[in-house]
Amino acid sequence: MPELRKDPILGRWVIIATERARRPDNFSIQQQESPEEKECPFCEGSESHTPPEIYAVRAEDSAPNKPGWELRVVPSISPFLKIEGELDRRGKGLYDMMSGIGAHEIILETNQHVANICDLTEEHISKVITCYIDRMVDLERDQRFKYVLLFKNYGWAAGAGRTMHSRSQLIATPVTPKRVKEELAGSQKYYDYHERCVFCDLIKQEMDSKERLVLDIDGFIAIAPFASRFPFEIWILPKKHSCDFVRLDFNARLELARIMKKVLLKLKKGLSDPPYNYVIHTAPFRRAKVGFWKTVDEDYHWHIEIIPRLTRVAGFEWGTGFYICPLPPEEAARFLREVEL
Ligand SMILES: [Zn+2]
Ligand SMILES: [Zn+2]
Ligand SMILES: [Zn+2]
Repeated sequence: MPELRKDPILGRWVIIATERARRPDNFSIQQQESPEEKECPFCEGSESHTPPEIYAVRAEDSAPNKPGWELRVVPSISPFLKIEGELDRRGKGLYDMMSGIGAHEIILETNQHVANICDLTEEHISKVITCYIDRMVDLERDQRFKYVLLFKNYGWAAGAGRTMHSRSQLIATPVTPKRVKEELAGSQKYYDYHERCVFCDLIKQEMDSKERLVLDIDGFIAIAPFASRFPFEIWILPKKHSCDFVRLDFNARLELARIMKKVLLKLKKGLSDPPYNYVIHTAPFRRAKVGFWKTVDEDYHWHIEIIPRLTRVAGFEWGTGFYICPLPPEEAARFLREVEL
């Protein structure tokens, strides 16, 4: 069973892997090179190579775990957290820990061996978005969980495995992740003072100045954030205020698919298909609890953060939490605006 451990100084939880732990001598640099691609376990026809599916969009006359699907969700074969078991919080001296309960699922975004989600059609990407939403809604019913982080690792340097088959992952956790908490706290503080959503204000300002605007399509904008941590960091935000990604309606899902495809295609064309990560930041599950703040619906605003992996985080970043971004976001935005699709 993996274990969640809390840093007694920062209050940050980490996951200590047990079952998937590697031997200490397995960490040499040579083994971290990009390996050869092996036969793909995620293509249509290879269903027996994955655990049984949790969710699928498939032809009516097709059977589960057989061909005939458009997209599938399966449990991770080497999960960071385990779905079975009770949350067992305990302490040992000054250390807090709990059992590594959670869900770790892999979303296979297509039955074709396509590597980058931006090469799928807008309509298909909107089905992927619907799948994200359906899985989040389903996991919210599990009272043990507080948060679901949906993320993508594209390319070896971004943490993807050996297989270049378009997929994303989700991890449901029994605690709200620290980075999300920091965003929630910052938004709440701004709201307390201004009685406005900080993200809505930011969107208005970025749309007026256009300096860092990458795309403005329908109900969404893509910007290079003012305090970018990484070159070509991009945020996609809905113009209409909403703290909750899962409330996107059918049309908005298509619009989001359209801007995601365009942004990711611009990165692919403009920067020679770089590895990247994206994460969806949405409000945590709101379970009635004494003392829980009431304004999250008004003060938080969901968004997607995209980080191309073009630089490496080095000593100064590790030591300080400061990031050094070698390219002004204004230049990154201008460059991306000029990439023609
Ligand atoms: Zn494949
Ligand atoms: Zn807002
Ligand atoms: Zn965020």
